[in-house]
Amino acid sequence: MTKHKLETLTFDNSYARLPEVFYAKVNPTPFGAAPYLISANRAAMDLLDLDHAEAARPEFAGVFGGSLLVPGMEPLAMLYSGHQFGVYVPQLGDGRAILLGEIVNGRGERWDLHLKGAGMTPFSRDGDGRSVLRSAIREYLCCEAMHGLGIPTTRALCLVGSDDKVYREQVETGATIVRMAPSHVRFGTFEIFYYRKQHEHLQRLADYVIEMHFPQLTQAADKYLRFFAEVVERTAKLIAQWQAVGWSHGVLNTDNMSILGATLDYGPYGFMDDYDRGFICNHSDYNGRYAFNQQPYIGLWNLSCLAQTLLPLAPKDVLKEVLDGYQVLVDRSYREQMQKKLGLTEDRGEDETLLQELKSLMAGSRVDYTIFWRELGTFSSEPAARNERLREHFLDPGRFDLWAAQYRDRLRGEQSRDDERRVRMDRVNPRYVLRNYLAQGAIEKAQQKDYTEIDCLLNLLQHPYVDQPGMNSYAVAPPNWGKHLSVSCSS
Ligand code: AMP
Ligand code: MG
Repeated sequence: MTKHKLETLTFDNSYARLPEVFYAKVNPTPFGAAPYLISANRAAMDLLDLDHAEAARPEFAGVFGGSLLVPGMEPLAMLYSGHQFGVYVPQLGDGRAILLGEIVNGRGERWDLHLKGAGMTPFSRDGDGRSVLRSAIREYLCCEAMHGLGIPTTRALCLVGSDDKVYREQVETGATIVRMAPSHVRFGTFEIFYYRKQHEHLQRLADYVIEMHFPQLTQAADKYLRFFAEVVERTAKLIAQWQAVGWSHGVLNTDNMSILGATLDYGPYGFMDDYDRGFICNHSDYNGRYAFNQQPYIGLWNLSCLAQTLLPLAPKDVLKEVLDGYQVLVDRSYREQMQKKLGLTEDRGEDETLLQELKSLMAGSRVDYTIFWRELGTFSSEPAARNERLREHFLDPGRFDLWAAQYRDRLRGEQSRDDERRVRMDRVNPRYVLRNYLAQGAIEKAQQKDYTEIDCLLNLLQHPYVDQPGMNSYAVAPPNWGKHLSVSCSS
């Protein structure tokens, strides 16, 4: 495979070929203080066939810090609207991100290069168009952590910093992150044309999305409906994956919902430490609209917003039918994943009760979600085994013993072998997740210009299922200071 230099990247800017009502052409605004590279992600460079050595060139930080363009880029800010915390906001759009262009790699995959924190656009409203270093680090690391977990997500190419001051609650410095996805079209991109009653643009958008990203549907007579069914299915699977791994998005507004069913826009997200169904990771979410256990329902709510926008293109009753299928899809996908987490290979009716009882025990004892699931792989199904290490997680070990007896019977019922099961379970129960306090550690070092922890976490989290020598301290429960860090929309 040819490895590219920055200047030889070839662009095919399909979004820029759409009518100008879809976006505003705008270049990144360079920082005052020269941008410098903080971290480059080789795995994402590979997706662009970009030579790793390119990261060392000052031009790399220049291009991805917003002060240089390379030939073929046609920067633009995408237009969209969306429902924020349940309220329709008629116009949002990329207020601080710029689509530099689209690259098609040697395998024919399309990647948007979306530069976040690139300065003001016509959609910036009251914002400054910038991202602070803290939030750029959080997005950079979580994109790759999610990818490592096997959860669909935007990818992160690199992180570039500048000493320019950015004003939030306190004075911070600015940074940019390059986010990659086959498309950054959101539910909100459909909403804006629907609510503006610009149905010809709406149809154009739908045709574009189908042609570029669901080409198998182009010839179908009911292509808009089938497109919707695809989005419903992908969204259901995505959210079921979040639920299984114990992750909350934090700001599930319709403008943060990808049309491709990938995790999009990392703000005040969180992996839960102690198991808590009502976990609210966003400290600005006072009513818990986006609490952990609300996410499947919010997925439905958001999909119903998308369905609404498709009314001019597909019959209402069938859209509704597809929407009605969502809950079944989430439940099925969640159940399949939880069965795998339990190491079960057969599907039995009683598993639902087994899982519910375990979750109720975990909630009662505030058991660390990630640690417990990983350790459950060590469960011994020998009749005399006491599974001491697992018992110790619970305030009422006797109740755990009752559960363990049922689990043992269930395992024996399918002739499960402890050693084989553990291997299977270790592939689905991660040892490492991006706990808030780990991200915080990397942020605090980076604020002192030490970026080593970012690369360390990046390498670790790209392989979260594999025990990595010397990395035990990244797999333990957070210290007390790290349990209640406040993360909000301010970024
Ligand atoms: P988010 O909460 O990041 O999904 O952003 C919601 C909307 O606010 C989007 O239109 C963003 O582009 C815009 N936005 C967020 N932060 C800024 C900022 N610092 N400057 C300009 N626009 C912003
Ligand atoms: Mg957003």
